[in-house]
Formats: sequence, C-alpha cells, structure tokens
Amino acid sequence: SGRWARAMAILREFEEKCATPIGKLRQVADAMTVEMHAGLASEGGSKLKMLISYVDNLPTGNERGLFYALDLGGTNFRVLRVQLGGKDGRVVNQEFAEVSIPPHLMTGGSEELFDYIAAELAKFVKTEGEDFHLSPGRQRELGFTFSFPVRQLSITSGTLIKWTKGFSIEDVVGQDVVLELTKALEKQGLDMRVAALVNDTIGTLAGGRYLNNDVIAAVILGTGTNAAYVECANAIPKWHGLLPKSGEMVINMEWGNFRSSHLPITEYDHALDVESLNPGEQIFEKIISGMYLGDIVRRVLLSMAEEAAFFGDTVPPQLKVPFILRTPDMSAMHHDTSPDLKVVGNKLKDILGIPNTSLKTRKAVVELCNIVATRGARLSAAGILGILKKLGRDVVKEGEKQRTVLAMDGGLYEHYTEFRVCLESTLKELLGEEVSANVSVEHSNDGSGIGAALLAASHSQYL
Ligand code: ADP
Ligand code: MG
Repeated sequence: SGRWARAMAILREFEEKCATPIGKLRQVADAMTVEMHAGLASEGGSKLKMLISYVDNLPTGNERGLFYALDLGGTNFRVLRVQLGGKDGRVVNQEFAEVSIPPHLMTGGSEELFDYIAAELAKFVKTEGEDFHLSPGRQRELGFTFSFPVRQLSITSGTLIKWTKGFSIEDVVGQDVVLELTKALEKQGLDMRVAALVNDTIGTLAGGRYLNNDVIAAVILGTGTNAAYVECANAIPKWHGLLPKSGEMVINMEWGNFRSSHLPITEYDHALDVESLNPGEQIFEKIISGMYLGDIVRRVLLSMAEEAAFFGDTVPPQLKVPFILRTPDMSAMHHDTSPDLKVVGNKLKDILGIPNTSLKTRKAVVELCNIVATRGARLSAAGILGILKKLGRDVVKEGEKQRTVLAMDGGLYEHYTEFRVCLESTLKELLGEEVSANVSVEHSNDGSGIGAALLAASHSQYL
C-alpha cells in the first residue's frame, strides 16, 4: 500500500544518511587524529579537550593495602573496596555495592548530590568485614571516579568543566569536585582521603594495565562515550610543567565532544541535539552512546508514524515521549531471534502502547535498530583508529613485534552484542589483517572501579 511504501521510503532515506562506508570511516579517523594534535597543542585548540590527567604512572602490580573507590558517572554509582596484595597477592579481596541515583538529584543542588553519595559511601564502609585490613594508624583512602569533563589541577583536585549525560547541577560547574566530596564526607563523620581523582576511562586504562602490560588506551561505551590513552609527555605542547620521570602522561580525550563534517548526521540527530540538555555539545556521544541510541530509534519511528501512518491511523501517544525507548530495549529487539519476533512485539506493546503489530512491521523495527547500532559501532571503530594513528600503531613497524591492547568497558559494549561484534569487525576491516593480528580489544570488566582504587594506592599519602 501507499502507506507502507512511504514508511519504507523514510527508513531508506535514514539508512542512506547513516551510511558509514570504509572511506568515510577513514576520514573520520583522520579528523580524530588531527583534532587530537590540536587539542594537545593548546588549551581550547580543539573540540577535543585532551585533558591532562596527572596520571604519569600506571599500576605495576606492586600495590598493597586496603583502598576504596567511588564511581559516579551515569545513572548508578558504585562503591568498591579492594584489598591489594602486591605482585603475588594481586587482588586478594574485593566487594562492591551499586546504588541508583534518584533522578531529582541529577538536576538539583550540589550539596544534595554529594551528601547523598557520601551517606551511601559511609553505609558501605560500615559493612567492611574481617577480610579487609587497614594498616594501623592509617586513614582510609579513596579513588574517586568522576566521569564528567574535569580540568585537573593535580591528581587530587579538579574543577568541573560541564555536565553531560543528563546531569545538570549548575552550582558545581567550576567547582573542585574533590572539595565538594570531602566536605560531604566530613559531614558524615567519615575519615577518608581522596587520593586520586580520575574519570572512568582513566580508571579503565589503569585497571586494564594492571592485568595486561600491553594496554595503551581505554574506551568507554556506556551511558556516554569517552577514551583515554598513554601519550608521550613531550608530545603535549600545552603542558608547561616538569616532564614526568616516566616520560608519559595519560590523556583523557573527552572524545564524546568530537565533531566533524565527515560524521553522518541526520535530521533526527539534529532534533535530538537541539532538544537535549546540552545542545551543540557531545555530538559524537549523541550518535554513539547508550543514552541516545534508543531515542534515535524512537524519533525515526515517530516520523514513520506521523508521515506514513506506520502504526495505523493514529500516532501512538507514547511514541512522543522523549527517551521512553531505552537502548537496552532497543538491544533486546535487535537481538530477537524468535520466528515471529515476539520480543519486538512485546516491547512495542509494553513500552509504546502499540498492540498487534504485523511481522512485517516488526522486521522493519529490527532493521531500524540495526541501522542505528551499526552507525554507532562503526564510528566508534573509526575513533579508535584515530587513536592508533596518533600513536603510530596503525601500521606494522619493521622488525617490531609491538602488541597493542585496548581496554573497553561500559554497559553498551558489554551487553549490546550486535554493537560489540560490529565494532570489532569494523576495526579489523580498517586495520587490515597484518596489523589486526597485533591489536586486541579486551573487556575490562569494571576496570574503572578497580582502576581508581589502584590509582589511589599508587598515589597514597603513605608511600
Ligand atoms: P555508566 O555509563 O552510566 O557508567 P554503564 O557502563 O553500566 O554505566 O552503562 C550503562 C548504559 O549501558 C545504559 O545507560 C545503557 O544505555 C547501556 N546498556 C545497559 N544495558 C544494555 C543492554 N542490554 N543493551 C544495550 N545497552 C545497554
Ligand atoms: Mg560507568
């Protein structure tokens, strides 16, 4: 019928605009490399902030003692304690707890948020059992993973540049987040020192390196997306401090804010951006990460419903609700292997209030999920190629058997199998067989929590 043809025309047009042929991916990778250079050259030189982390040494395995970590950066935050036993003992013991952040705290006041976090951490510390040992006379130390763009002043302090991922608490912007946390810890009567302020990419890099010496970069694909990597200290023109002994410095790219004319951006992405809490910012993040993928799918479905009566004569009202279709639901539909696409049918019914969809309709929905996920995964791979190019690891060097390992984490990477498989195969495609043989991607399961604790250990006041 005419309606179906119109709906398919909308879908096809969207597909064309989302296309990521290999040539385009190479342009994106090259643009990423160029922006990396620009961001390292001068403050404000690029959309990529290329933030100096003050981490100039990654874990060696010799770390010892009891350390805590707190991971704030999405819809949940995690608290963790780990007993480190040095080279032989490694991680002797670990425990964690996950707490969801009440949505009103994400857009409320600074004090309420930090008080809530400190109170939850205090509760967790109270449950510390016999398997954990704090050396006598010592203060507990914490690695604070704060996964928003921060201008670091030292390893233990940094001011918030801006919120992302649905957070918006104006009175924290420009403030030292370690100071805010420390004040809240004191109010709780909790005697604990923040020994390292890092973000999740740095934590994942540290956690990855602890397990594998060849880890040189970390990528997060969760609610948001970001990457960090180990740079030569003398390749950072904007760094005017002393060169670290190691000769290295970990850089937090804040790649979620990358943008380039080569990115395939559609009218739906544009509308999502305009209506977001941070219009004009985090454009790469908005086409790749878990916070947004489901909503892109919803927007295309809405257009198909409005312009082509894809779901019948009336437009299902739920389809107009922003973020009602979450990426985990999109992923569940995408992975539906039942012959009648039962999962898709149920999601459409339960989430969007659309009953009795035909198999043909369900298939089109799966196809749409595939288009959106494929674009995100392939662009992520292009971003990674950009990093490898910056480091000269996109080629095989004569006589060198240099291995390159990327530590990956985040709910999107971990749970969205189609996304992960597409990312990994695209990276292989981009690198070619010979280079690929020396490059591997490893899932660093909650590396960021352990990583922050490890960095607290290597920056302990008792060393
Ligand atoms: P955060 O990024 O908030 O620190 P995670 O790394 O756990 O936390 O990632 C959570 C995000 O991962 C969710 O916001 C969601 O977008 C995505 N995600 C979680 N589960 C799935 C899933 N089954 N399929 C696809 N995406 C998922
Ligand atoms: Mg996280």
